Amino acid sequence: MSVKVEDKLFLNRYRVDEESHLRIVDPALCRSGCSNQACLYICPANVYKLEQDRISVAYEGCLECGSCRIGCPHFNIEWRFPRGGYGIRHKFG
Ligand code: SF4
Repeated sequence: MSVKVEDKLFLNRYRVDEESHLRIVDPALCRSGCSNQACLYICPANVYKLEQDRISVAYEGCLECGSCRIGCPHFNIEWRFPRGGYGIRHKFG
């Protein structure tokens, strides 16, 4: 029996901050200066999505793994941990 990633992600619990801890520094760079838009593929939680001509950031589902921080070839993602008390809560950790 295989378990889908979406089913595993459903087990996670979050305390969502109203303030995002992720920010695309220069959205225009994503639109015109980025050839591969790696953030769309490296995030295990699908936080980044291409919506028409812009990349949306659903920070609420972030796993805080840091992959996007180092994976963006232009270092165009401002990344920090959520404020104290917010973010993912690992159910079994
Ligand atoms: Fe996705 Fe990890 Fe970046 Fe969060 S830190 S947005 S889970 S790649």
